[in-house]
Amino acid sequence: MAASLATPATAATAPATDFDAIIIGAGMSGMYQLHRLRELGLKVRVFEAGSGVGGTWYWNRYPGARFDSESYSYGFSFSQELLDDWNWSEHFAPQPETLRYLNHVADRFDLRRDMQFHARVAAAHFQAASGTWEVTLEDGSRHSARYLITAVGPLSAPTLPRFTGMDDFKGQSFHTARWPHEPVDFTGKRVAVIGTGATGVQTIQEVAKTAGQLTVFQRTPNWCAPLLNSKITEEEQREIKASYPAIFQRCQETFGCFLHTPDPRNTFDVTPEEREAFLEQLYASRGFGIWVGNFSDMLTNPEANAVVSDFVARKIRQRVKDQAVAELLIPKNHGFGTRRVPLETKYYEVYNQPNVKLVDIRATPIERITAQGLQTSAAEYAFDIIIYATGFDALTGAFDRIDIRGEGGQSLKEKWSEGAETLVGMLAEGFPNMFMLLGPHTALGNIPRSIEFNVEWVTALLKHMQAQGQTRVAARPAAVNAWMDHVMDCAKGLLAMEVDSWMTGVNSNVEGKQVRRIARYTGSAPAYRAWAQDIAAKGYQDLALR
Ligand code: NAP
Repeated sequence: MAASLATPATAATAPATDFDAIIIGAGMSGMYQLHRLRELGLKVRVFEAGSGVGGTWYWNRYPGARFDSESYSYGFSFSQELLDDWNWSEHFAPQPETLRYLNHVADRFDLRRDMQFHARVAAAHFQAASGTWEVTLEDGSRHSARYLITAVGPLSAPTLPRFTGMDDFKGQSFHTARWPHEPVDFTGKRVAVIGTGATGVQTIQEVAKTAGQLTVFQRTPNWCAPLLNSKITEEEQREIKASYPAIFQRCQETFGCFLHTPDPRNTFDVTPEEREAFLEQLYASRGFGIWVGNFSDMLTNPEANAVVSDFVARKIRQRVKDQAVAELLIPKNHGFGTRRVPLETKYYEVYNQPNVKLVDIRATPIERITAQGLQTSAAEYAFDIIIYATGFDALTGAFDRIDIRGEGGQSLKEKWSEGAETLVGMLAEGFPNMFMLLGPHTALGNIPRSIEFNVEWVTALLKHMQAQGQTRVAARPAAVNAWMDHVMDCAKGLLAMEVDSWMTGVNSNVEGKQVRRIARYTGSAPAYRAWAQDIAAKGYQDLALR
């Protein structure tokens, strides 16, 4: 059975209706945007391809999926009642708990009555004469609205490798982001995992617990660091509840909205002993501290980066018994933190287990999938289950999958074929009345913090337009150019820009996405917010309003 990226069949066609706003996606962005637009008295409809709310946390049900941000820094911050009545059970909550949380949010704010599930949007075309958007679902039904709000997620368009023979495999196969809703039993099974990004690492360490034989096919190792998750004690729970204002205030101040912020010192400001002690302390601390709370120059100065990379390489050598395997797990083509750092729980120790084998597919590439398993240039393998942890067509992929056309019938996919152009990641020139939540060039980091900012910015703009009796908004070309110059400037000198990853827009499985480009905003979240807030403070002069 081949892994499929298809979604369940669509429900019965609803009659075409007009709305003030159509939101695509019922993940965290779509949910919160619906809540806010209701407060403006707007008639809103959310179209969601899945059968429930949750977006990322709905689709990514793979074993071991959990937060990499501290739970209490990740949840919505906008409602005190919501903060009061939800208790996170672990410092980094597992996916089932997060999905329960998002269903709780949907219940508490009665969100589902304006949502249509099993409703994948196929096309959205701007109608110049009426200044509205016509939205067509995959089932052929058509709906129109004045405003189109994309809440499609930056990492939501999964991609499978383009191996020959994928349809021939007789066992079970899954992409991690299209995981079945029923549990998958690995007990005693022969399992393959292809991919060692943040998803692959979480999957591998979980599947290794029960699989009869787990074979990991690794193309590029990533630098991983300890998550150090634990249950939240009653005392910690009380402390968290009392500290929410301070927690969210801190998130507003840090570079990526995480609780961690870079150390003000540069790597070589301190003695080698102090450096080693500081890195030991970071390695023994939970969460992203070692990535985003490290020395200030770690992500820009190659010598500084080499010091941290060397430190983490030594840890890997200590944790993995077979030194040949340890060497395979140590990245050689990029430095620590220049790709997204997967956080792990005993990931490296997995390779000390007798039931786990690591295959370097740079040395011996996968040649094809077979009926029984797969074939590399060196050997043939038989499997019961193949797991594709092969990632996403990030940032623009979810947009590319919808036929979005703006003024003059211009296609967004074509407009962005050489790279996305936006104004603060939320508007695109030539696409009036369209707003993107977490579009390309929004600050990512701790994502819900960016979601809340984006939603509140769009809501404030629509409120302003309501007050002025305006119904059409478009980004001015000069404003887009100035913003894009800023986006380019931010990326200068970053070591991450010299590395292939989804963060530089590279995906080997997608035609036309082999060239690195500036696909995300690399400045700080406070700088991002300041730019967007300035647009509002200056009375939206960067936008053509009528
Ligand atoms: P990813 O980082 O893009 O990793 C994909 C993996 O699949 C890589 O190891 C890649 O190898 C491999 N791969 C892709 N195509 C392949 C092919 N044709 N042949 C062999 N190997 C192939 O994707 P991801 O792990 O799903 O993570 C994406 C992002 O989602 C993360 O960076 C993170 O931002 C987010 N995420 C967050 C969490 C969390 O917060 N808890 C958890 C999981 C994911 P190469 O490196 O060689 O391309």
